[in-house]
Amino acid sequence: MKILLLCSGGDAPGMNRFIYDLYDAFKDEVYFALAGFNGLINGEIYPLGKVIKNGDRDSAGTIIKTSRCPEFKQKRYVKIGVNNAKDFDYVVICGGNGSERGAKEIFENGIKTIFVPGTIDNDVNDNHYSMGFSTAVKECVYAVKNTMPSIQAMTRSCLFEVMGRDFGAIAEETAKQVDADYVVQDKKTLDYEKMTKAILKKYVKGQSSCIIVRENIEKIEKIANKLNKMLGLDIVRCHIVGRTQRGGTPTEEELVMSDKFAGGVVDVIRHGRVGRVLANKNKQIVLKKFN
Ligand code: ADP
Repeated sequence: MKILLLCSGGDAPGMNRFIYDLYDAFKDEVYFALAGFNGLINGEIYPLGKVIKNGDRDSAGTIIKTSRCPEFKQKRYVKIGVNNAKDFDYVVICGGNGSERGAKEIFENGIKTIFVPGTIDNDVNDNHYSMGFSTAVKECVYAVKNTMPSIQAMTRSCLFEVMGRDFGAIAEETAKQVDADYVVQDKKTLDYEKMTKAILKKYVKGQSSCIIVRENIEKIEKIANKLNKMLGLDIVRCHIVGRTQRGGTPTEEELVMSDKFAGGVVDVIRHGRVGRVLANKNKQIVLKKFN
């Protein structure tokens, strides 16, 4: 048996644990394509044993590297990738919803393919949990908890920008966990009237407010400036949580989920099946067809 593994798109905490688990299960049968679809089309394919080192198992990042590969959206590059994948009995792809489309292309070209959700954004269709989400939220909660005391000391308000690209899951979950005063998940919820109302409600009582804002909607500084203007005050500050959302030490939940995903993949391979290894509402692993 020869299994080819690759990570694609943004890296997500938990990917390493997943990689090590697959190595434990299949040892020298596992190979990897360096930095995702780029490695696949360039033929940069190596035995996983070459990069397995003790100690990296529970760290964030991915020892097999990941990247974005816009070329893979073109049929001629898919053809090259598929040609290189033909040497393998299975291709396992870990990434977000973009990577899932790449995985589907490979599958539709006759390669036994398995897709696994690995993205902090938690934006994979039909899937309730993707590797990285719990850790990203933990880092956001940490940032809020470590910023608000200083904000409160001056009776200010703070906007926290969190990741998510086009999907508001990190913003929504962070807001829930920190009991935020308002959350901007999309263009529709970028409602300045509601935000000023939420800020003033606290301000008149001498209290601070905390607002969570998803990235890619509007520049956070611009939102803060507009709010200050509308309030006629200079109390709104902003904080971009940033890359710690990807690089944070995986949570216990993360590691458990990575183990579960790996277990699901091992099971699917041992039964000779293909498809998307996803998590259902109860965080149990399910196999679904490529859409
Ligand atoms: P994520 O997988 O985290 O959502 P991206 O959306 O950036 O990240 O997608 C990662 C990679 O998946 C892209 O750089 C590209 O190589 C591949 N990909 C995305 N969309 C497609 C598509 N429609 N067809 C083939 N490959 C795709």
